[in-house]
Amino acid sequence: MIDLSQSSLAFAKEKDSSDALSVFRNRFYIPEIKGKPVLYFCGNSLGLQPKKVKQYIEQELNDWAVWGVEGHFHARTPWFSYHEFLREPMAKIVGAFPDEVVVMNTLTTNLHLMMISFYRPEKKRYKIICEGGAFPSDQYALASQVTMHGFDPATSIVELFPLPGNTYVETSQVLDAINRHKDELALVMIGGVNYYSGQLFDLPAITSAAHQAGAMAGFDLAHAAGNVMLHLHDWEVDFAVWCSYKYLNGGPGGVAAAFVHRNHTGNPKLVRLAGWWGNDPASRFTMPKEFVPAPSADAWQLSNAPVLPMAALRASLDLFDEAGMEKLTEKSRELTAYMEYVIRQAVESSNCEKEISIITPRDENQRGCQLSVQFRSEGRKVYDLLTDRLVFGDWRSPDVIRFAPVPLYNSFDDVYQCGQILSEVLREVFKKADR
Ligand SMILES: *Cc1c(COP(=O)(O)O)cnc(C)c1O
Repeated sequence: MIDLSQSSLAFAKEKDSSDALSVFRNRFYIPEIKGKPVLYFCGNSLGLQPKKVKQYIEQELNDWAVWGVEGHFHARTPWFSYHEFLREPMAKIVGAFPDEVVVMNTLTTNLHLMMISFYRPEKKRYKIICEGGAFPSDQYALASQVTMHGFDPATSIVELFPLPGNTYVETSQVLDAINRHKDELALVMIGGVNYYSGQLFDLPAITSAAHQAGAMAGFDLAHAAGNVMLHLHDWEVDFAVWCSYKYLNGGPGGVAAAFVHRNHTGNPKLVRLAGWWGNDPASRFTMPKEFVPAPSADAWQLSNAPVLPMAALRASLDLFDEAGMEKLTEKSRELTAYMEYVIRQAVESSNCEKEISIITPRDENQRGCQLSVQFRSEGRKVYDLLTDRLVFGDWRSPDVIRFAPVPLYNSFDDVYQCGQILSEVLREVFKKADR
């Protein structure tokens, strides 16, 4: 009945058995319903829990019990410098020097902190270019920053939408817009991987065009960090922010991160909102009256480190460090290509090509591991039936189901099973319509 041949299952099994990263799956808890593991494709929304999280958090709870306040210096991983332990593995994930990265706060907070420093609009240069339909939190952040500086979001924020007949914004559109607005442009701030379509922008090209126009380039990497190869330092990106609870498995509401290029970290003239943890640690406890910025991205820290969520994140960063982004992205490309194949097979075998399309770019250089499937009708019904059958994608209003086969814990077999169930569901839902 189902058009995926036995050889596909054999293919999936064979790929899993030769996959050097397949050992990592067992380091995560896979959610189960009535004892049956779900097919989890939501790592772009909330990454799964590494089994070691509990141990890492327990260590801090124990040290707190044993040491009280002295744990700041005597805990096995002293809390005074706890963020230091996350710096290097995080820097590797985004292609930065360790002193360019700091783990702190939450994503939207970090976006505001970065914009305070890097969006300094002037009478003639005040515009921001961003992708149309950006994640709402980013839209609110941009608009409120613009308003705070006394400008009008309607005339200051240039939103770019896909051209007619396209499902995503071409990088060339961004470059054209930069050129068109170059005399008024202050900042380009784009989601590196768009949360809705899964499109990966050409970040180095955008950065260099922004710089040529005399503007700053900053990126929201919520859907890019831990998903695609990034070289923020080499690309000369000015700043970036990202959360840790999506591909980085830092746990719900987990602590986020920021990148500031070395071109800026030593600049004493930068405007910033300061707090004691951004002060140079050498003089932090002498409480100097005047703020002495740390000579690194740490200068943007406000408060002392939230150790418990950071402990959860450490457990996951250890796994990333062990696996390495090169190997992860290599597997990601294969796994995503396989998922694309499997989805297309399911759509063809149930004769609903007219109802369904994948809006994510087909070019593997323009996407990470997310595929967004758009429905002309019945999308919500398909989504609900998939969920009932333990296929967990996520629904994005009005008409998209996103699937993210995550290389760290998803298998080729997961993808194969997903294809089987998707075919069944599509046949059920669309059989009545016209066939
Ligand atoms: C997930 C996501 C957010 C969420 O922001 P929080 O501050 O972590 O709640 C914001 N922007 C983008 C682009 C996202 O993908």
